[in-house]
Parts: sequence; structure tokens; C-alpha cells
Amino acid sequence: MAEIKITLIGFKCERCNHEWVPRNKKEKPAVCPKCKSPYWNKPRKKKNTKKV
Ligand SMILES: [Zn+2]
Repeated sequence: MAEIKITLIGFKCERCNHEWVPRNKKEKPAVCPKCKSPYWNKPRKKKNTKKV
């Protein structure tokens, strides 16, 4: 038996690090299925820090 590597296309939530495989690969999920965050694909940026 030969070994093969199967790569699944999935998504990873930037907020809770939850990984899942979508049923519909054509459309990106609106929210993370675990934490329900709509910003699952948007990592936090340190752009808006208002530290003086
Ligand atoms: Zn999440």
C-alpha cells in the first residue's frame, strides 16, 4: 500500500483557532461555526492601538 498525502481545504478561525472543512468550498463561511465570529478570517492587527 502506497502512502499518499491528502490535503483538505479548510478554514481556520483567527479568533478561536478552530479549524473546519466547509461543505461549500465556493463560498466562504460568514461566521466561524464554533465561536460565531464574523471576523474569523481577519487576524487582529495592531494598527488601532492608541497608546501614546
Ligand atoms: Zn472561531
